[in-house]
Amino acid sequence: MSQAFIPQEILDEIAAKCDIVSVVGEYVPLKRTGANYTGLCPFHNEKTPSFTVSPAKQIFYCFGCGEGGNVFKFMMKIENLTFQEAVAKLAEKCGVCLPEKEMSRAEKERLARLERLYKINDVTARYYQKVLLETNAGKPYLEYLLKRGLSREIIEKFTLGAAPESWDNLTGFLRKKGIKDEEMLDLGLASRGKDGRRVFDRFRGRAMFPIRDERGRVIAFGGRLNDPEAKAQKYMNSPETPLFHKGRVLYGLDMAKNAMRSEDAALLVEGYMDVIACHQYGITNVVAPLGTAFTPEQAKLLMRNTYRVYVSFDGDAAGEKAAMRSLDIFSDLGLNVHVLTLPGGRDPDEYLRAFGKEAFLKEMADSPEYLLYKASRLMEKINVNDITGKSRIIRALADDLHKIKSPVALESAVTMLSHKLQLGEQAIMQELKQKKPEEKFAAPPETVEKSIESAPKINFNDAYQMAQVIVLNGIYKEPSRQALLAKTGGEDLFDEPFRKLYQALVRQSTAEEELLGTDASLLAQVIFLAEKETAESAEPLLYEQALNRLVLRQTENAYSGLLSRLAQAENSKDQSLSIKLLQELEQVRKKKEKLENKARGMK
Ligand SMILES: [Zn+2]
Repeated sequence: MSQAFIPQEILDEIAAKCDIVSVVGEYVPLKRTGANYTGLCPFHNEKTPSFTVSPAKQIFYCFGCGEGGNVFKFMMKIENLTFQEAVAKLAEKCGVCLPEKEMSRAEKERLARLERLYKINDVTARYYQKVLLETNAGKPYLEYLLKRGLSREIIEKFTLGAAPESWDNLTGFLRKKGIKDEEMLDLGLASRGKDGRRVFDRFRGRAMFPIRDERGRVIAFGGRLNDPEAKAQKYMNSPETPLFHKGRVLYGLDMAKNAMRSEDAALLVEGYMDVIACHQYGITNVVAPLGTAFTPEQAKLLMRNTYRVYVSFDGDAAGEKAAMRSLDIFSDLGLNVHVLTLPGGRDPDEYLRAFGKEAFLKEMADSPEYLLYKASRLMEKINVNDITGKSRIIRALADDLHKIKSPVALESAVTMLSHKLQLGEQAIMQELKQKKPEEKFAAPPETVEKSIESAPKINFNDAYQMAQVIVLNGIYKEPSRQALLAKTGGEDLFDEPFRKLYQALVRQSTAEEELLGTDASLLAQVIFLAEKETAESAEPLLYEQALNRLVLRQTENAYSGLLSRLAQAENSKDQSLSIKLLQELEQVRKKKEKLENKARGMK
């Protein structure tokens, strides 16, 4: 994308319209704590929230990794965008028009092509639905869906459709609309015959399920074979296309997002029929992967909405293997995971039809945490009454236990296990110490290192650093203090990187671009740290103390500088210089004494 100048007024307008709490809230579940919101940091791995968002100041800051800044910085980091791209994205979100920017021709063509592909998918989904609801060819498919207990309302909500047994039903329709065979092939809607010429419908004899992205755009299709006697694969999805990467999509996410946030939980089921059945029974925080191995990208899609996941799978071995993989991914990422296995090996669809919503919700509420579930499975295989049985189980769970970083969470996990295994907590901890975590979990996550490099971390215990933090926060909040500060020493009072931030604040350079780099992170740190350390009423006094401390440090430095110059002058027997230096020294000594007295008076 080419660089474009974005006027400051437009940046201000976007910043004013895009509330940082709701922007961040789309990626990170936030809880209100006093004046701020907190959540788990999206930029480093953590299990206790140190990521803070201030609605009053419209900034975020992580006490764990030091990342921080305004809404533009957040968007750049989380979506890995340039400043321009982040501005464009936020502008679109809040309906601010950006001045037309020059796109390269290739870029324009690429975007236009993608737009057209989305449109073709949309037309296709509506066509399949029309076939399902309004034609004779669609009847057997509609009968099947109704027999599965789906209401017409739900069928319409999910735009379910039908691809009848035909070679040119869809392709014929799309050609009449002026859509090229190449485009149908690109979207995986059509296939090419072995002769290399004939292009025909890819989905035939199937009930059709449009697959949508997080924003609700149709990106692919899933088809379920209607004829139980047919030999082809029962479920078939679109191939990978420019719009569809199946490892990065969760079926139903567009319709589940809000419920996941409001209920602070997500339900992961096996297939799209389960998702749709759950909706029919009023359970809407539900998604499914698309018949492939669950990926960390998919887990991260969930984490934008909640950190609590219920994983449901039926009893068969393949289902369990797939579920175990997703469980490991979730627990690696620090999510709170429950395992939902429904009685009789039923899937959610079957269970809901037999017992209804209330019973299902109760099963969810009673479902064991991941660790207890694993322990139960191990206890089926390992005899706990055997001398080494319990110890083998603990060792098998050791890697999972070592992943728990919060001491509180670890203690409650150990307590749960001690009940389950009828074993003392001490014994479990002893056993754990003997099996050290695997190397890959012991190493700190890479992202933390990187963030620390980009944002200098303030040392709480360094009195001078904290004094600089308090003074900078003071002039940020109360710019009228700047004049006096400039006279008392100005930038000489600060070390790097605080000096740079001081200069930025004095220039009143709040231009987003200038404050985007380390300055923005540092400013965010300064503001949050200072507020953590200082109560509102004590702030003026603390500001004076901190300023005094910095001026005193500068004066002491000046004093010792003069002393060594005096020694040199006396060595070289330069009497007039010596006298001049002695006079200066006396002045600085008086100033120093005054400051020391003042410091004592303020204690
Ligand atoms: Zn962090």
